[in-house]
Amino acid sequence: MTRKKKRATATEKTGARASNQDKSSGNGPGVGKKRFRQIVFKDWCKKCGICRAFCPKNVIGQDESGGPVFERPEDCIGCRFCELHCPDFAITVQEIHTDPAGDLP
Ligand code: SF4
Ligand code: SF4
Repeated sequence: MTRKKKRATATEKTGARASNQDKSSGNGPGVGKKRFRQIVFKDWCKKCGICRAFCPKNVIGQDESGGPVFERPEDCIGCRFCELHCPDFAITVQEIHTDPAGDLP
């Protein structure tokens, strides 16, 4: 009877974990992901919907009066398409800086 030796994979040798979350940050789920805050200057906004149309992540919805509302701010990637395309300079996007532990200031 022959016994086959099982060849160790790279993951087994190093003990490395291979989940997508760990690959993205190296510090655990959610840590290291950039976060952004979106601000609308309502007095300047004419509710044209351009910001909503250009958002690639569908972060921006519409309130009952037709104005922009940020329905999924956690999905914002900070591309600033909304800010750059707003004809009235009524929207701005800022990165939220976090401390090394990933906590909000
Ligand atoms: S693009 Fe500017 S003016 Fe138009 S809805 Fe968005 S924030 Fe308002
Ligand atoms: S910065 Fe980009 S992803 Fe974020 S709300 Fe504006 S268009 Fe959408």
